[in-house]
Amino acid sequence: MFSSPFLPLPAGLEIATTNMRDDLLVVQVFSTKVRSCCPLCFCPAERRHSQYTRMVADLPCAGFRIQLILHVRRFFCDNANCIRKIFTERLPAFVLPWAGLTVRFCEALQSLGLATCRELGTRLAARLAIPTSPTTILRRLMILPLDPVKSVIHLGIDDFALRRGKNYGTVLVDLQRHQVIDLLPDRKAETARVWIQKHQEIKVVSRDRAGDYATAARQGAPQALEAADRFHLVKNLAEAVEKALVSCRAELRKGPKTKEATWLFIRHFADLKEKEREELAALRQASARAETIYQLVQAFLQMVRTLQGEHLESWLRSVRACHIPELHSFANGVERDKAAVLNGLTLSHNNGQTEGQVTRIKLIKRMMYDRAGFALLRQRVLHRF
Ligand SMILES: [Zn+2]
Repeated sequence: MFSSPFLPLPAGLEIATTNMRDDLLVVQVFSTKVRSCCPLCFCPAERRHSQYTRMVADLPCAGFRIQLILHVRRFFCDNANCIRKIFTERLPAFVLPWAGLTVRFCEALQSLGLATCRELGTRLAARLAIPTSPTTILRRLMILPLDPVKSVIHLGIDDFALRRGKNYGTVLVDLQRHQVIDLLPDRKAETARVWIQKHQEIKVVSRDRAGDYATAARQGAPQALEAADRFHLVKNLAEAVEKALVSCRAELRKGPKTKEATWLFIRHFADLKEKEREELAALRQASARAETIYQLVQAFLQMVRTLQGEHLESWLRSVRACHIPELHSFANGVERDKAAVLNGLTLSHNNGQTEGQVTRIKLIKRMMYDRAGFALLRQRVLHRF
């Protein structure tokens, strides 16, 4: 009996023999523990009933696949009050009851699955002398237990495309811990409400502009403040600007395309390159209307950047006083959702990180080119790798 630094085993397990067959190393392992605890009553037991053999695959070593033949014991439970009379000794941190793989082998398969996808994971595993199949990797991923959702105080909620233009899911983000805490398979108000309702500790819900998530927040967490997500505010403003600039096109004929002009209008002046500043100046000089749009847009963005929601009312007045219908519709939208917009322009935690999480989901989705379903995507997103 010996132990080997090449094949670390938990205390109480020792190697008897090793046998090489091609690329397979068969290792006979014996348990040497004199006692074991009953899995039911936890009383230590010493009276041996019999020997029991298990075949367990372990992580490869130096290019060899490893097959352990585990010789463990059955014990009598001598606790008179216990209904269990005989039990097989357990090796909980090493191999789970009935499992055909060691825990460390399972973890390696899970890591392969989380970092790649089942097809690629299987090919990579073969190179690493880990025998597996796409189905096994998938099964290992699906049984990864999820941590229970901790209490969430500032919730971010947004949608993301499961299949672009077809199905959408919902992502829920803990804005304090900067973590995705759940994915929902659709973006219906009802589904989100049911989730939100289980979290009465929520104090702020940061969401896109009025819509299904607003309904879900209002019904599911009436105790919480609602805040319009600043990312969506700016996105909606940019859309309004683009439309408004189309209406100035006659005057801006020589300038850049509308999309590029919108981009110049939306960005922080300090971030513009010299050439972009010149283009912007030319646009503003060419059209009085464009100049008005620019002033109003930058005033709004200033509020967003510096969280000065107290200027919202006067900004809305200025918009009403100008004759730019596209900005009027943006302002009407703000007006309809004013309390949430004000919170979005005041509360500092609401900082568009939900959008970053949506980007991460997109990346994971793209990598899973094996068209896996929602359940697998959820596992992949919630188990950070
Ligand atoms: Zn017992």
